Amino acid sequence: MKFDTVIIGGGLSGLTAGLSLVKKGKKTLIVSSGQSALHFFSGSFELLSSSDEPFKAIDTLPETHPYSRIGRDNLLRLAEGTGQFFASAGVTLCGDEPHKRLTPMGFKKNAWLTSEGLLTIPDSGTLPWKTAAVVNICGFLDFHSSFICAGLGKCGLECREFTVNLPELEKIRQNPTEMRSTNIAKTLTGEVLDKFAAEIERVSAGCDVVILPVVVGIQDESECKRLCSLVSRPVKMVATFPPSVPGIRIQMQLKRQFCAAGGTYLLGDTVTDGVFEGSRLVGIHTANHGDSLFTADDFVIASGSFFSHGLVAERNRVYEPVFGLDVLASDERGEWFAMDVFDNQPYMSFGLSVDNEFRPSAGGAVVENLRAVGSVLGGFNPLKEGCGAGVAILTAMRVAELIS
Ligand SMILES: Cc1cc2nc3c(=O)[nH]c(=O)nc-3n(C[C@H](O)[C@H](O)[C@H](O)COP(=O)(O)OP(=O)(O)OC[C@H]3O[C@@H](n4cnc5c(N)ncnc54)[C@H](O)[C@@H]3O)c2cc1C
Repeated sequence: MKFDTVIIGGGLSGLTAGLSLVKKGKKTLIVSSGQSALHFFSGSFELLSSSDEPFKAIDTLPETHPYSRIGRDNLLRLAEGTGQFFASAGVTLCGDEPHKRLTPMGFKKNAWLTSEGLLTIPDSGTLPWKTAAVVNICGFLDFHSSFICAGLGKCGLECREFTVNLPELEKIRQNPTEMRSTNIAKTLTGEVLDKFAAEIERVSAGCDVVILPVVVGIQDESECKRLCSLVSRPVKMVATFPPSVPGIRIQMQLKRQFCAAGGTYLLGDTVTDGVFEGSRLVGIHTANHGDSLFTADDFVIASGSFFSHGLVAERNRVYEPVFGLDVLASDERGEWFAMDVFDNQPYMSFGLSVDNEFRPSAGGAVVENLRAVGSVLGGFNPLKEGCGAGVAILTAMRVAELIS
C-alpha cells in the first residue's frame, strides 16, 4: 500500500503531524501501538514551564535542543498558531494570558495552553472569587479535595469540601478499581449529568465557584459545556490522577479529525521494521500485516520515549527498536542517572540524534526521507524543563512544513 507519508506513532506528536499533513493534501497513514502520554495528561500543555518567561528562555537553550533546531522565528510563529490549529480540530485551549494550573497535589505550575473548562490561575495569583465549593464524587480516590483546598487557600480562596453521590454511579463503585475518572465520565452523560448538575447546584449554594475533578466529557467538549450551563455559578475543573479524561478526549478528537480529513489510522498495530534503499526508507512492515509493505515518499517517527517503547533500555545500551537509529545516550550506564532522584536525570534527555531538519541517522548516515518528532527526540528533558507537549506539537508542525 502506497502513501505520501507514513507516521509511526499516534500520540500528540504523531497526530499533530498527521493532521497538518492531511490538511496539506498528503495521503497519510498513522500506525500506532496503543496508549500514549495523553492518557496521563495533566490538562495543560507545557512550553517551557521551568521558566516564567519561556519565550525569552528559549534563547538560552543548547543548539541540540529541539526548540533551537526549529529556530526562534519559526518557533514563535508556530506557537502563535497552535491554539487556532487545535480549535479547528475541535479542541479548545486557553492560553491568551500567561497562567498556572493546579496539579492534583494542589501545587501551582506554569502552563502554556490549558484545556477549556480547567481551572487556570492568572500570573498575579489572584482568583476572582472568595469562596469555593470543592466537590468530589463519593468513593473516587484519584482526586484529593484536601490538597486542592490547600492549594486554593494559597490563592486566597476559602474552600468548603463536599462529596456527591448518585445511584447511577453505584455500579462502578462496587469495585474500587472501576471507580476511575474515565468510567465516571462514561456514566455522567445525558440525564445522569442533569442529576449530577442538580446535586452540585444544591451543595454549592452560597459559594462563588464550584471546583470539580475532570470526570466529565470524555467524548468531546459538549458535556462539559452543558454541565457549566446547568449550574448557576462558574464550574472549574482540576486534573485528577491518571487516567486523564481531557487527554483521552484530545487524543480521540484529533484522531477523529485526522480520519475525517482523509487520513488512515491503524490502531493497535506496531511497526516492526523498515526496508531501506541506500539512504532512503522505502517502506515499513507492521505486526498485523505480515509481509505487506507500507510504502511512502516520506516517513515520520513519532514513537515516543521509554514510556511508549519508542526507546528501549537494556542493561548496557539504549536503542531505538524499529530502525536501529542513532541515539544520543551515554554508553556508560553509570552516567545515565543521578543518585538524587530530584536532580536532572541524564536518561530523560536520551533520544534520537537529528539534524536541523529533524532527520535522524543510522550508523552515522542521515536517512533522507525520515523525520523524527516529539518525545523520541533527544537533547531535552521534558520533566525538568517542562516542555514535553511544546516539543511534541512544535516539532510535529515544523516537520509537516518541511515535508514538501
Ligand atoms: C506519563 C506522562 C505524562 C505527561 N504529561 C504531560 C502533560 O501533562 N503536559 C505536557 O506538556 N507534557 C506531558 N508529558 C510529556 C509528553 O511526552 C508530551 O506531552 C507528549 O504527549 C508526547 O507525545 P509523543 O507523541 O511524542 O509520544 P507518546 O505520547 O509517547 O506517543 C507515542 C506513540 O507511539 C506509539 N508507538 C511506539 N512505538 C511504536 C511502533 N513501533 N509502532 C507503532 N506505534 C508505536 C505508542 O504506542 C504511542 O501511542 C507527559 C509525558 C508522560 C510520559
